[in-house]
Amino acid sequence: MLDILHRVSREVNAAPGLRDALRIIVERVADAMAVDVCSVYLRDAAQGDFVLMDTRGLNPESVGQVRLTTAEGLVGLVAEREEPINLKNAPAHSRFRYFPETGEERYSSFLGVPIIHYRTVLGVLVVQQTEERRFEENEVAFLVTLAAQLAGAIAHARASGGIDGLEQDSVVEGGRALQGLPGAPGVALGTAVVSYTQADLNAIPDRMAVDVEGEVAAFEAAVDQVSGELRKLSDQISDSVTADEQMLFDVYLRMLEGDSLVRETVERIRAGNWAPGALRQVIGEHVQVFEDMDDPYLSERASDIRDLGRRILSRLRDEGERVRQVPEKAVLVGHEVSASQLAEIPRENLVGVVAATGSRNSHVAILARALGIPAVMGVDDLRTRHLDGRPVVVDGYSGRFYVDPSATVEQEYQRLITDEAEFTEGLEALRDEPAISPDGRTVSLYANTGLISDINLSLAAGCDGIGLHRTEFPFLIRDRFPGEEEQADLYRRVLEQFAPRPVVLRTLDIGGDKSLAYFPIQEENPFLGWRGIRLTLDHPEIFLTQLRAMLRADVGLNNLQILLPMVSRLEEIADVRRLLARARQELAEEGVETRNPALGVMIEVPATIYQIDRYCDQADFLSLGSNDLTQYLLAVDRNNSRVASLYDELHPAVLSAVRDVVRAARRHGKKLTVCGGMAGDPAGAILLMGLGVEGLSMSVSSLLRIKFVVRRVPVARAAELVNRAVEMDSPEEVRRMLRRTLEEYELGGLIRAGK
Ligand code: PEP
Ligand code: MG
Repeated sequence: MLDILHRVSREVNAAPGLRDALRIIVERVADAMAVDVCSVYLRDAAQGDFVLMDTRGLNPESVGQVRLTTAEGLVGLVAEREEPINLKNAPAHSRFRYFPETGEERYSSFLGVPIIHYRTVLGVLVVQQTEERRFEENEVAFLVTLAAQLAGAIAHARASGGIDGLEQDSVVEGGRALQGLPGAPGVALGTAVVSYTQADLNAIPDRMAVDVEGEVAAFEAAVDQVSGELRKLSDQISDSVTADEQMLFDVYLRMLEGDSLVRETVERIRAGNWAPGALRQVIGEHVQVFEDMDDPYLSERASDIRDLGRRILSRLRDEGERVRQVPEKAVLVGHEVSASQLAEIPRENLVGVVAATGSRNSHVAILARALGIPAVMGVDDLRTRHLDGRPVVVDGYSGRFYVDPSATVEQEYQRLITDEAEFTEGLEALRDEPAISPDGRTVSLYANTGLISDINLSLAAGCDGIGLHRTEFPFLIRDRFPGEEEQADLYRRVLEQFAPRPVVLRTLDIGGDKSLAYFPIQEENPFLGWRGIRLTLDHPEIFLTQLRAMLRADVGLNNLQILLPMVSRLEEIADVRRLLARARQELAEEGVETRNPALGVMIEVPATIYQIDRYCDQADFLSLGSNDLTQYLLAVDRNNSRVASLYDELHPAVLSAVRDVVRAARRHGKKLTVCGGMAGDPAGAILLMGLGVEGLSMSVSSLLRIKFVVRRVPVARAAELVNRAVEMDSPEEVRRMLRRTLEEYELGGLIRAGK
């Protein structure tokens, strides 16, 4: 059974479109269960009806013709109840509805199971048989399991487009809208540029070959290179492996030198696809053939072919000349978009980011916010293969992503973009105004930075200093750890630009979702793993280099403060103080006199809140990281789009935790800044003002927006809102209240598109 399940779901995942996917399902299920009929009904998103999309057994002419509302027929009943319905004599059931065009009257028994994706019924899978019988428990279980496994694939296939029929009704105004999560505010119109990693062969997009012969030559060169490498490897390894094991290399070589793989890829290139796309198609087909073989030895060969494909692909990517032309307005789209992929697109061309995974708190979304670019994350139904070069719209407020937008959608967004520009221009007028509330309270506004290019922007946005400089990026985009000199140079530039204003440099926070290609960490649970201070304390050679670089950069400027990420134990502070003293001592011995900088702790692990008095004693200042604090307090992975709807820093539990920290800091007279996404979110900022937080640190693109909020909303009013918010049951309730408040103060343009 498991075998069949795997095979069907593999085939469905590989299907080029929804039509093919449904065909595979009805054929395979009818065979596997030996039933007379198997049909798939899908819900038409626009009208809510269930439409017969494919069938084996019923009259094929009725496909697309039979439509039922949820209140109609047995199919409607399955959807309504969201559970299987198993009937011996279906025509006798009160909900049975007869469609003469199907020829259905001949079938007595009926088994229908819902196809559910994230609580939404996408459709119903039905099997029928002439014979009057109840389906057995294992048959029901098989169909339920299959439907659950296929739900994601059906959602994907449906979203991938290119098929007739159903989704013409379900598109929004002729432009298909995919729903994701708001990642970074703003809206943009542009051209999709699909990014993919070398490891993910399947994600390579189709792209038109501009220079066909050039593509062929690059491909052949890559094949030659891989053949050479394999031969060398085979020789090198011959002493240490058996002849049998060495055969593997011969198998690879035969695959390369045999006719089909290379010839077929060249044919695909000549037919117009670029080399990586053609390679993906051919490898995919060969993999499928092997995977379908019943012999376990042969089906294993599928992974060899995939591996070979990846090797050729990596050589193809090394070919510098073939770098694509980046469109003038590029929207970077990918299954997973990494910080370095984002950095590869010239800043002036990049207008938006869309990813199938992640959420608002993923580091890519944070980066997009820092750059002031709209981002949509967690677009579950994103299929990137056919997206490259297509016109798209990104709505970072609502989390919508439109592919091939209709003229109406495009015009509407064009209007919103113009309105936004006007709104932002209005904000510009605040640049030199102080961030003082109408009732006279000053809030310090700091910038979160991490890219050198941010700095000019933040200076321009008139902030009070840097509240969080994430030092990871130079580590992420290099192929080795940056040296002391290199780091000192980078830090110096930041400190210099802002002196005498304070600059908080955070020590390296890798691990979690930020991994270094040259320092791979394989963990089951990386966010609970070797991350931030845990890792740097285990590697004093890396940590001391960074501390020395920071201290040296501060000489003569005296505005450095150091912040420690992911602290969960008090002794970590003492450990850092020891290393810091050592670094200063060493530098003094080398003739460099340094200052002892203020040392702060990030409050982002819930444990620190239960020992907050002790942390206040030991740290010079506190910085509350609402992104991680929310993740750890609510036990919701900040990157997991499946649970993203559960992630909200305005959850009353998070607000209560923040309140405890604010009160403790006040008791101890310690400076507290909030530097997570909450500080840059207009609704979050109001609550933080109400709690009495005096320093907010946010991405540069949020600075003027939040200044606008501070200047409009009295702190006394914000405090009342906090008192109500902490008593509420859910974050949605809190958000509703703050939405009303923002509209009341004419600040609605900050949380939605338009003015
Ligand atoms: C946070 O966790 O809130 C934070 C500011 O740090 P980062 O997003 O880099 O983890
Ligand atoms: Mg953090």
